[in-house]
Amino acid sequence: MYSHPLPVRVRALVLGGGIHGVGVLHDLSSRGWRDIHLIEKSALGSGTSSKTTKLIHGGLRYLRRVHDFSLVNEALYERRTLMDLASDIVHPFELYMPILKSGGVPGFVLKSGLLLYDFLAGKQKIKTHRTVSLNDVMTNVPIVDPSSFRSFFSFWDAQTDDLALVRRVADSSIKLGASITESCEAKSIWPCDDGWIVEVKTQSGSTFKISALYVINCLGPWANRFLEDSHVAPTHKAINNKGVHLVVGDLGLKVGLFLQSPKDDRIFFLLPWQGKSLIGTTEDLFEGNPDQISVSDKEIGYLLENCNQYLKNPIKEKDIQATFAGLRWLAIEKGHGLSSTSRAYTIGEKMGGRGFLLTIYGGKMTTYRVLSKMIGDRITTHFGEFRPSNTHQKKYWATSEGSSAELPSVLERYQVHP
Ligand SMILES: Cc1cc2nc3c(=O)[nH]c(=O)nc-3n(C[C@H](O)[C@H](O)[C@H](O)COP(=O)(O)OP(=O)(O)OC[C@H]3O[C@@H](n4cnc5c(N)ncnc54)[C@H](O)[C@@H]3O)c2cc1C
Repeated sequence: MYSHPLPVRVRALVLGGGIHGVGVLHDLSSRGWRDIHLIEKSALGSGTSSKTTKLIHGGLRYLRRVHDFSLVNEALYERRTLMDLASDIVHPFELYMPILKSGGVPGFVLKSGLLLYDFLAGKQKIKTHRTVSLNDVMTNVPIVDPSSFRSFFSFWDAQTDDLALVRRVADSSIKLGASITESCEAKSIWPCDDGWIVEVKTQSGSTFKISALYVINCLGPWANRFLEDSHVAPTHKAINNKGVHLVVGDLGLKVGLFLQSPKDDRIFFLLPWQGKSLIGTTEDLFEGNPDQISVSDKEIGYLLENCNQYLKNPIKEKDIQATFAGLRWLAIEKGHGLSSTSRAYTIGEKMGGRGFLLTIYGGKMTTYRVLSKMIGDRITTHFGEFRPSNTHQKKYWATSEGSSAELPSVLERYQVHP
């Protein structure tokens, strides 16, 4: 439990304890700022940041748009940086990608994509992609029925424990002098002569006002709701795009598997993780309350149906141990459908008296450090005392020994399936 006392006045107040919130806190503290605080309404990482596919990756599928090449390049660089900085929780991970006998992405398109992926990784490449033998497939993904596939490619990304990463970044900030209060909800914000006032409510029901020169809204799927409820007009329109995962017992996977639904071409994954296997994800627009997301029967049916057509023995609903759903929070790009709306990020800015309110739109767990650094640069430059970020240096990071509490098990984290 992170339970530092609430401050009355701080230089920077971060709202939301997902990867972006703790990332911004770490960035500012690595520049020598001490007078900074983060509030999280529940537990750190309890939002989207513990509901990811657990990949620290360039994002092979984002190569569909030339527009996103620079994002992939940046993410591939960050993949290497995070593997170096937190090697115990971000490690190299092999994935297989099949070419289907009928339908799906044609082999030459996949091959071109993988060549480009390796090229964009440059010196940060983990291993060059290759074609794998049927023997390798039977050893590393023994549950697949090879009869549907023409051949398989292997390529490399990294895998993480997303919640562990959030906590490590939080612990690193605290090591550098920042403070965090969990179970503390931001209720409202308004500008004042000096910057911004945020009214917060603690678990016991007490309300407090915190004044801050800079406020960084890292509330992800909740970001615009919070602004609108405070009568502050958001700078960007955004959508929530729901993704779901199923947790089943160990399927004997030694590598991850990228699959594609022949019906609607959607990509989904089968991944080994923490002694279990994950099946995910679908993508659908979500317009409801982010506090009330869960995995529906329809989504379970969709994933099982699509997955099972490639397996020797079908996974049944009774095999599902837990489920989890998360929301991708994306600024709307005109003229693009859901899956082609870019995962790139945007920062909204509103001036208060002297300082400003920044709101994060979009982003990926993999690139959280880049986005946090942009925010740190903007704030310290405006403050008139620019200092560089140091989050790329290991000595600014906590280690596993400095860990604040034991991590919950997989089944403690997610909705157990009845
Ligand atoms: C299904 C899915 C799979 C993904 N897989 C990957 C992947 O494999 N790799 C990758 O790089 N990226 C992945 N992403 C993207 C990544 O998960 C997100 O970009 C990232 O987690 C967003 O973090 P965040 O801090 O912005 O938001 P969040 O993690 O949602 O954090 C927002 C926090 O704000 C808190 N909060 C809300 N309201 C209040 C309030 N009023 N006061 C105080 N606190 C409040 C919430 O409790 C929450 O903890 C995936 C996303 C989804 C949806």
